[in-house]
Amino acid sequence: MKAEMINADLHCHSHVSDGLLPPAEVAARAHANGVQLWALTDHDEVGGIAEAARAARDLGMPFVPGVEISVTWADETIHIVGLNFDPADQTLVTGLERTRNGRYARAIEMGERLARVGIPDAFEGACKYVGNPDLISRTHFARFIVDSGYCKDISEVFDRYLSEGRPGFVEHRWAKLSDAVGWIRGAGGRAVVAHPGRYALDDTAMHAFLSEFKDLGGEGIEVVSGSHKPHHYAIYAARAREFGFRASRGSDYHGPGISHAELGSVDLLPAGLDPIWSDWV
Ligand code: AMP
Ligand code: MN
Ligand code: MN
Ligand code: MN
Repeated sequence: MKAEMINADLHCHSHVSDGLLPPAEVAARAHANGVQLWALTDHDEVGGIAEAARAARDLGMPFVPGVEISVTWADETIHIVGLNFDPADQTLVTGLERTRNGRYARAIEMGERLARVGIPDAFEGACKYVGNPDLISRTHFARFIVDSGYCKDISEVFDRYLSEGRPGFVEHRWAKLSDAVGWIRGAGGRAVVAHPGRYALDDTAMHAFLSEFKDLGGEGIEVVSGSHKPHHYAIYAARAREFGFRASRGSDYHGPGISHAELGSVDLLPAGLDPIWSDWV
């Protein structure tokens, strides 16, 4: 089978970050949906990979380690996916630990800010949804806020409270782009720009970002993503060709009922791209 026809899902989350399911259940669901090459890419954390790898092996589903690193570039939060690296690499593990570190203090401050706009006890509330105490994220606050009846869904919570400029948003400095790409490469992996269609970068800034990413040794870009709209596919396929990036594909699945796309269900890559996984299968 040609590599681009393989049902690869190289972007999704477990409850080790802000997904709902344990890694083994994400594996089972991916397998049931026909995924033929899988990566678990929790935010800033490789703690779920051992369980994911075991579950995938038992199911006979090819697996590569993954991670989604939060980066601050030109005051914008950008996500960089790392694929097929050594999850025990000490520089990577220490770098991710540092990247996670500020989350607790940030979450306390989010709770204080939300209290001022009429949502008391949100920090304590969000903690009830957290699977990994090192990784409290805005998603956990969003779940608490929906379940408490303040908003009808997660998307409304982000629009009203948690997106940049909204009252519950707390500015945060994540990893540097050069560090994130360096950690992934140092651990033998490939760095991929996650859901480029989601960032508030105009054409000039996107071009500058992709040039810098390439100069640092970045190799891939997500073209088909559950966090993209279909009109993004052609735009980022063109960017992949322009910069000579390999293309990646992933659902960005977070759990039943809360995700745009189901595991293994997003469109195939547009023709004529080099899949990031072409030499892994
Ligand atoms: P954090 O790393 O704590 O800033 O949380 C980021 C996470 O929030 C992302 O990985 C998404 O899962 C989620 N998220 C961000 N923006 C939105 C949005 N507009 N709607 C739904 N989920 C979002
Ligand atoms: Mn997330
Ligand atoms: Mn992301
Ligand atoms: Mn993601």
